[in-house]
Amino acid sequence: MGLYTAPLLNSYQNMKRLLILGGTGGAEKLATQLRAIARSKTTSIPELEVIVSLAGRTRAPLQSSDRVGGFGGVAGLQDYLQTMNIDLLIDATHPFAAQISHHAAVAAAEVGIPRLMLVRPPWEKVEGDRWIEVDSNAYAAQILPTVAQRIFLTIGRQELAVYSYLPALWFLMRMIDPPLSNTPIPPGEILLDRGPFDLSQERSLLRQYQIGAIVSKNSGGEATYSKILAARELGLPVVMVQRPPVPDSEKVSSVAEAIDWCAMAL
Ligand code: NAP
Repeated sequence: MGLYTAPLLNSYQNMKRLLILGGTGGAEKLATQLRAIARSKTTSIPELEVIVSLAGRTRAPLQSSDRVGGFGGVAGLQDYLQTMNIDLLIDATHPFAAQISHHAAVAAAEVGIPRLMLVRPPWEKVEGDRWIEVDSNAYAAQILPTVAQRIFLTIGRQELAVYSYLPALWFLMRMIDPPLSNTPIPPGEILLDRGPFDLSQERSLLRQYQIGAIVSKNSGGEATYSKILAARELGLPVVMVQRPPVPDSEKVSSVAEAIDWCAMAL
């Protein structure tokens, strides 16, 4: 019996736990690749348990998760990190999910564990783009009447209310899940769909609905970039909402770099 107990105990003691705050394609890829690496037991990070956390905003998330729902602010997250004996934290949330990133920064520092942000690079304006860069959806809404009358609104469902006081404009609103029943929404049509979207799809949508301008967050990544390409082709303005500030942090922009960071940190 003793022959078996010692290695098992040893293996358990060496096991490290990584919490990935997810909600992005990058988080999904990172979790999948790290688990495969840990299973293979041939690399510098063999003893790793990966825990993925989602906020629970999307009804049918593409990413699998080990827990769903808020932690209860900084104190709740701190408590979770301690109770679960988390050794490392990777914040791979969406660049517009500013609150959880700030909570993660404070909680990880309080508990004294390494934290990394995996953040995809923002889109860069190139020749032919007619971007109007703004700091917030509120500011985007304020200037929209001077930009166009028929708008393709691609900001998700959380901040629709900001545009609801613009009755003279018409909106094609694309989102994954429908708005909550008590959310005031602007006049127009709701299109439930999930990326990736291709260029021909985006081009036809803009033409079909006679769109005069797009509102987008500068989310970065490939999956939703086609609308920016289509707008460039058709010479349409894009009101581009800039990213909110994120906490000071060690940051990487690729899954491969995040895996290297894990290997170094363990
Ligand atoms: P947020 O404003 O930064 O977070 C609001 C609250 O949601 C947080 O304080 C936290 O609740 C909870 N939360 C957020 N991410 C969580 C996670 N991964 N695990 C557990 N709890 C989480 O974020 P948001 O803009 O509402 O976005 C929610 C989630 O959707 C994020 O995880 C993000 O990656 C994903 N997402 C967001 C966008 C976007 O445009 N904002 C787009 C695509 C995907 P407690 O304070 O109770 O812990």
